[in-house]
Amino acid sequence: MAYYICPVCGDALKLWDNSYKCGKGHCFDRSAKGYVNLFLSKGGSNHGDDKAMINARTDFLNKGYYGFLKDEVCKAVSDFTPQNGEVIDCGCGECYYTAAIHEALTRKNKSPEIYAVDISKDAVIAGKKRCKNLNLAVASVFHLPFSKESFDTLVTMFAPFCREEYSRVLKHGAVMIMAIPLEDHLWELKRAVYETPYKNSPHDFEIEGFELVKKSDVKEMMHLSCNKDITSLFEMTPYSHKTSKEDIKKLESLDKLDVTAHFAVLVYKKI
Ligand SMILES: [Zn+2]
Repeated sequence: MAYYICPVCGDALKLWDNSYKCGKGHCFDRSAKGYVNLFLSKGGSNHGDDKAMINARTDFLNKGYYGFLKDEVCKAVSDFTPQNGEVIDCGCGECYYTAAIHEALTRKNKSPEIYAVDISKDAVIAGKKRCKNLNLAVASVFHLPFSKESFDTLVTMFAPFCREEYSRVLKHGAVMIMAIPLEDHLWELKRAVYETPYKNSPHDFEIEGFELVKKSDVKEMMHLSCNKDITSLFEMTPYSHKTSKEDIKKLESLDKLDVTAHFAVLVYKKI
């Protein structure tokens, strides 16, 4: 059964009153908002996405533009997760996908136990609001607070990737499910911003220690109907930080834009 381990010494954490404690006396309080902070911070208390970024993304996602991707991921998780399966979402953000996964597995009577971690405290708080049945912790995906071979399914959606950690916390033969953008993803948005836009380069699907067992391509035209949705989508992309102010300004005059979303949903088995 999956349980938290102490980020200081690695011993099992047990919940006493409202605190997680290990045998060596390290103690982590559970917040009144329903999560535990297991991230050993070096300076500053806020890491990862801030409230403004989370709100913009939540707003965009709640409009359902990525609903087709959510459905495909939920289907993959439902198909590959056993009864009473233990699932972890690494880099869960505001739990848009995690909450849907919980709902999909519950609908199939799979009685799931779902853990989710993100390095952003604000994201985790937003996630708990979205679904109160998730076990949420602030933690880094590079240092997951779980013992080895804890999970049947690991989901990671556009979060930093740490192969060694993901492999460590998965049981033998367990699955890792993720989505990656394909060649045509956001093509029209890039064309609106850049002088010479490039398509995403073809992806190498091989991951050491894992075998690809399923790959589904999903493609949809999103009809963005206001400027806010266009800028929110752009801010969600990894290239928004590398784009000049003049190029970003080109988006200001746009009130609607049809943009292709193109992903592969990948299922890997740990070997
Ligand atoms: Zn400890």
